[in-house]
Amino acid sequence: MKDVRLEDLPLREDLRGRTPYGAPQLDVPVRLNTNENPYPPPPELVADLTKAVEEVAWGLHRYPDRDAVALREDLAAYITRDTGFPVTAANVWAANGSNEILQQILQAFGGPGRTALGFEPSYSMHPIIAAGTRTEWAPTPRRADFSLDTVEAARIVQERKPDVTFVTSPNNPTGQSVPVDELRTLVEATPGIVVVDEAYAEFSSQPSAVSLLEDFGHKLIVCRTMSKAFAFAGGRLGYLIAAPAVVDALQLVRLPYHLSLLTQAAARAALRHADATLTSVAKLAAERERVMEALRGMGFQVVPSDSNFVLFGLFEPGAWQAYLDRGVLIRDVGIEKHLRVSIGTPEENDAFLAVSKEIA
Ligand code: PMP
Repeated sequence: MKDVRLEDLPLREDLRGRTPYGAPQLDVPVRLNTNENPYPPPPELVADLTKAVEEVAWGLHRYPDRDAVALREDLAAYITRDTGFPVTAANVWAANGSNEILQQILQAFGGPGRTALGFEPSYSMHPIIAAGTRTEWAPTPRRADFSLDTVEAARIVQERKPDVTFVTSPNNPTGQSVPVDELRTLVEATPGIVVVDEAYAEFSSQPSAVSLLEDFGHKLIVCRTMSKAFAFAGGRLGYLIAAPAVVDALQLVRLPYHLSLLTQAAARAALRHADATLTSVAKLAAERERVMEALRGMGFQVVPSDSNFVLFGLFEPGAWQAYLDRGVLIRDVGIEKHLRVSIGTPEENDAFLAVSKEIA
């Protein structure tokens, strides 16, 4: 085939020169760069999932349940248990990872002529999904210590009136959560939709924003994922909790049968083993505290984290490569002098700390 370059294609002007999301996927001994759960699924889960997938495989000639009702019921039961706030399948919508949920939200509530606002540094996919849906992106800075000044944030959203505002709590890549009463103030002040991205909620000591749906069903969406605490990143399952009308709105933009029969069956099997899987959360939180303390002891500046990763510094350029050269893959999230490490198993964390000691 003749060599065709990207520049030769009639690509949308607004996409020219952009870079895709690209956390490196490298085969190194210690991989601590994408905030996955380091513990593989327990054998009972794998057995149950295999059986469930085998059972549904006989029906693969038919499209799956387009509305994924059984899975949404299971997710609603989990959220009710986890947050103490009763929700039903009508409040839940699921997709292939919370990235797809975020995309559907911007397809429905963003788009050309509309604006989405985020408090940066935060999750890098928010602006990328905004670009893909042709939603104008309004980046708004956090405090110098990366915490969110919610009073200032409320003032800014009142002034700018974004159609969609993203609040990531705990925030990736910096780690802190926003207390729920401060979120309430911010949601109250916001004229448009507020998406609270709770991808790391299970690791946090702060209560979920789900309880705010009682008062703010007309503008609040809480987004979650099974990729982190649930150790199901490879299964690709994200979901939202919102008013049923929000779920109705997303039906207008979702692709039909977007969640495969296999994904629905596998995710339900994973949810049946939630208690076993989620025992890793306390272990990871304890390891996070150990890693943060050890890093501080070595003289690093450590940003307080309520999640399964830690942002730390201060580094000279080249530090990311120095870790990699020693077999430890962590993340350069583009914040000057800082790197982010995901919390792994105790052995992985020890390997990371040993390299940190050399580099400090
Ligand atoms: N939101 C945040 C804040 C994240 O960090 C991530 C994953 N890195 C996601 C959403 C998307 O995760 P997934 O698509 O795997 O559910």
